[in-house]
Amino acid sequence: QQTTYGPLTLITPTAAMKASVHGGRAKCLQRLVRLEMPVPVTVALSFDAVHDAAIGNLPDMQKLLGPFGDAPLLSVRPSSQDPDWGGPSAILNVGMNDARLAELTQTIGAEAATKLYLRFVQSYAIHVARLDPDEFYLPDVADAASLKTMLDTFEFETDEPFPQDPAVQLAEVLRSMARAWDGTTARLLRQAKGAPADAGLGLVVQAMALGAGQGECGQGVMQFVDSTSGAPKIIGRYLSASKDHAYDLAPDAEGALYLTRDARGPALEDICPEQYAQLVSYGDICRRRLREEMEIKFTLKDGALQILDAVRVQRSSRASVRIAVALAEDGVIPREEAVMRVQPSALSELLHRQVDPEAKRDVIVGGIAASPGAATGRIVLTAHEAQASAARGEACVLVRRETTPEDIRGMHAAHAVLTMRGGVTSHAAVIGRGIGLPCVVGASDLTIDRKNGVITAPDGRRFKAGDVITVDGSRGQVLAGEPPMLEAALDGAFQTLLEWADDFRDIGVRANADTPADAQTARNFAAEGIGLCRTEHMFFEGDRLGVMREMIFAEESDDRKEVLDRLLPMQRADFQALFEIMAGKNVCVRLFDPPLHEFLPSDKAGMRDLAEQVALPLPVVIERVDALAEYNPMLGMRGVRLGIAIPEIYDMQTRAIFEALVAVGKKGISINVEIMIPLVSAMREVELQKARIAGVANAVRAKNKADFAYRLGVMVETPRAALRAQDIVEHAEFLSFGTNDLTQMTYGLSRDDAGRFMSSYVQQGVYAEDPFHTLDIEGVGELISIGAERGRLGRSDVVLSLCGEHGGDRSAIAFCRAQKFDYISCSPFRVPVARLTAAQLAL
Ligand code: PEP
Ligand code: MG
Repeated sequence: QQTTYGPLTLITPTAAMKASVHGGRAKCLQRLVRLEMPVPVTVALSFDAVHDAAIGNLPDMQKLLGPFGDAPLLSVRPSSQDPDWGGPSAILNVGMNDARLAELTQTIGAEAATKLYLRFVQSYAIHVARLDPDEFYLPDVADAASLKTMLDTFEFETDEPFPQDPAVQLAEVLRSMARAWDGTTARLLRQAKGAPADAGLGLVVQAMALGAGQGECGQGVMQFVDSTSGAPKIIGRYLSASKDHAYDLAPDAEGALYLTRDARGPALEDICPEQYAQLVSYGDICRRRLREEMEIKFTLKDGALQILDAVRVQRSSRASVRIAVALAEDGVIPREEAVMRVQPSALSELLHRQVDPEAKRDVIVGGIAASPGAATGRIVLTAHEAQASAARGEACVLVRRETTPEDIRGMHAAHAVLTMRGGVTSHAAVIGRGIGLPCVVGASDLTIDRKNGVITAPDGRRFKAGDVITVDGSRGQVLAGEPPMLEAALDGAFQTLLEWADDFRDIGVRANADTPADAQTARNFAAEGIGLCRTEHMFFEGDRLGVMREMIFAEESDDRKEVLDRLLPMQRADFQALFEIMAGKNVCVRLFDPPLHEFLPSDKAGMRDLAEQVALPLPVVIERVDALAEYNPMLGMRGVRLGIAIPEIYDMQTRAIFEALVAVGKKGISINVEIMIPLVSAMREVELQKARIAGVANAVRAKNKADFAYRLGVMVETPRAALRAQDIVEHAEFLSFGTNDLTQMTYGLSRDDAGRFMSSYVQQGVYAEDPFHTLDIEGVGELISIGAERGRLGRSDVVLSLCGEHGGDRSAIAFCRAQKFDYISCSPFRVPVARLTAAQLAL
């Protein structure tokens, strides 16, 4: 039997079909044929044939129509290489004309036959002749008069009667579908989904099965898993011919029957038990042989089953995980493939509650999606009100111009955070991701009137404090009211997939965790340790802020020491709690980093409170706060510079670390403690700290008659530290690249202010992406590789890692693997995504 006519291939059990030549649908149909399923006659047009059709060189219509007999009724469907790349809508009932109408009236009745004709004229007019859809709506009654009206309208609009020759109809359909693929919108859409610029389109032309006879006729769709949960379940619809047929079945098609029997009444299972059983077995064959959960499109003609098509089941993120794991557990695909099949971004959705994708969205304002997940609550405008809300057990959304460290307790109390200013490394964003709090930042179109407790949307709508809104931190939107939500889904399949991923990956994944709660999240997500514990966050907790301020206000070293002695037990308790949670793992503690002024109040009321607390006159307090202010604090007295200038702070912190180590050691808990020095730019800084820390360690050892080990390392976050890494490692056993500051300092770009103009920069292509979001491999990356190389020259076994916000990002992980880094460290909620991404990169 001849199966290939130049660019046309009749789909037979032996026809050679390639997704890269004929598209995924053609290839899948050929496999169904090979698996001996009853597929109607189908001819595939290759990418080349469709490309030629777009420029007017149509295939030989007689050859194309040959396999379909004298009076063909055809469907034409797109067949792109990857079904996700889309394609023009299918066109059905090609071949309908006056003669066919007369014929079909005899078999299926006048109304059904007229409806088919009307539908074909409608889609031909809209998609092929490109006429105004408003002129071609489907009439309520499918009778001769309405058909005549539509045909007349067609003739009026085109100056030609509706074409009667099936060959002409088909040629025009092919040409219009081929052209639609080349349209700008279609091109942009598929490129956004990763299709190459020259992606091809194939088409499949298939005989339509029109039911008419004694037995059951109709059409249906069937799938074998639930699209939302991924659980095995038979779902679908069947539309009997007596109602309507031969169209693509809409999911809510009126009058459709369910497939399985339940309280709703009779089902396909009842009226056609044999065909139903056959369909179930086809589903199983598809799953095993096509190695995927498929939706099957079928018809019954006089009781005989035909399979028109099978497409990959649409699925939620949660279902994608469950389906991949189930396929691997059933031996249908190897574990590697299951790991590759799940998009890491899908996991990040599962870690949080989400706005139901089906829900209607009443968007108040858009901003930057800074921390994923969605939460609903009443608007509060201050951290204090957030805490009061939490105390009343009421969910709230903290809305601020921007957040500062003082807001931290309010953030912990809130269910979500919305800020007008800031970018992806702003305070709100970093804390939000760290604690899994949905967060939208940079919603600059919002106006906040704190005095009157009102926020105003760009469209002028006003929302008062106490009104309910929803922050969707995954999409970067703020919605009015409370849309339906989907719960987080950390189920067995999720855990299993990640355990498999861990077997394949070749780079460590740690978490940035500052508090016991963060550490617990990190542990739950199987982080291999803490790669960055930012200790300053501990000083904003409880009553510590007050003590911290006293310390800052102390004039003499002795006074300062006295206050620090009061902070010591608190800090020791922090570390002890952290170490207990992280038993047996690595914990990298970074010594104090931010400029001290961040701990001081910025407004009058705060100053008054502070004056009371430190028992100083208000003017003195104001003067001292002013004196501490710096013109450029991020480049000022912070990090190791504080360690050099006010060494008592680091003394206290290291003592707390070591004493906590001794204390948990007594309980049999061991921890690999690492102490990390921030903002280093010169070797001598490290040398001085090293000596001082060794002194504290010895004192703690002597006092407790206990021994312990620790490692000292340096955070590489100034360009100079990267350049001088070779000398720096003389005193440092590990280097961790802090890409937030390193990006800031490499670009000379303030991480707190760049949000204001970043979108103009990205829009105009100055930067390909926000470098605080996507690691700048070309520039910052070069500094990192210089630092890594020089670090290794100085110490061949230096441990290397990256701990900035980029840590969970695919491109940053790929870069760190290429540099043979030991691990990356990211926010606890990004740990699962990083584990999966690292595995996919290794496979
Ligand atoms: C960094 O600078 O990359 C970093 C991790 O530290 P921080 O964000 O606390 O400055
Ligand atoms: Mg830093």
